[in-house]
Amino acid sequence: MKSYDAVIIGGGPAGMAAALYLARAGVNFLVVEKMSHGGQMLLTDKLENYPGFPEGIKGYELADRMAEHVKTYDFDHIHDEVQQIVPGKDFHTIIADGAHIKTHVIIIASGVTFRKLKVPNEEKLLGRGVSYCALCDGNFFKGKDVAVIGGGNSALEESIYLSKLVKKLYLVHRREQFRADKIYRDKCLDNPVIEPVLSSVVSRIIGEDEVCGIEIKNVQTGEFSVLDVDGVFIFVGYDAVCKFFPEGLDLDQYGFIKTTCEMESNIPGIYAAGDIRSKKCRQIVTAVGDGATAATAAYTYLEHK
Ligand code: NAP
Repeated sequence: MKSYDAVIIGGGPAGMAAALYLARAGVNFLVVEKMSHGGQMLLTDKLENYPGFPEGIKGYELADRMAEHVKTYDFDHIHDEVQQIVPGKDFHTIIADGAHIKTHVIIIASGVTFRKLKVPNEEKLLGRGVSYCALCDGNFFKGKDVAVIGGGNSALEESIYLSKLVKKLYLVHRREQFRADKIYRDKCLDNPVIEPVLSSVVSRIIGEDEVCGIEIKNVQTGEFSVLDVDGVFIFVGYDAVCKFFPEGLDLDQYGFIKTTCEMESNIPGIYAAGDIRSKKCRQIVTAVGDGATAATAAYTYLEHK
């Protein structure tokens, strides 16, 4: 059985920051990442609120810079999905890549997955007009009409990006007020391509082989209507990636991991960092801070061991 002092699950900003801090402390560790480094950053066009980049920076560029920095240190990594964590008294076991890996510390930085609307045809028409990523799929809708669903920072930020490509964009939100920051609200409300459709929820996505519209219900009047669109981009928040969580791990009501301010979970030696952690502010800058804090706390834990 392979053995490490620490295993980091996830290669997003939290995982990369944790890796940097563990590497510099001389800890023998492994990073398990199922896709490529960067996490949600790779799906973001331009980041305007990461300190140090007054002109903004492309999501993939910041991800590359972080990875380049981390890779100046030596550590093991595997590309696979963790199947299970089995907590133990002396050490924990991770099952990944068909192997059992023994470790004293686990830093879970596995991030989040897109929340689904759970309306008819959403799953069936995924990739055929339904999308959760404007940067990946926006180009397919050049000069066409689309709807964006949601009222948070993601929905409005992605609407601003899509408005440069599409002819018309309906921004459908279930309340009268957007949740997003003022800077995004102002940019959307000033944008002639974007038409807010408020107090409205999607009741179904219309289309046989590809999307040709959405049916919406006005929650104040109860009236149904149809928006003729070729694409529907859904940004209604995120859910925790939790398939491999061990039994007994303390979670909040939404499935995110509860931690102390040192990022420690209720299971000794298991830490959480980034979006997977129960917290209010999910930003790249807070993910990086979580990663550094978790690694520092984990190092102290290892020293006591
Ligand atoms: P969010 O802040 O949780 O917003 C989700 C939005 O979707 C809310 O407006 C919510 O409506 C709506 N919604 C949720 N479930 C729905 C449903 N079933 N049907 C219709 N609408 C639904 O999620 P997010 O925008 O993805 O952001 C997630 C986190 O990342 C936040 O902390 C956010 O600040 C952060 N983020 C930051 C940036 C940035 O700073 N540049 C960019 C993107 C994301 P209600 O408002 O009515 O609840």
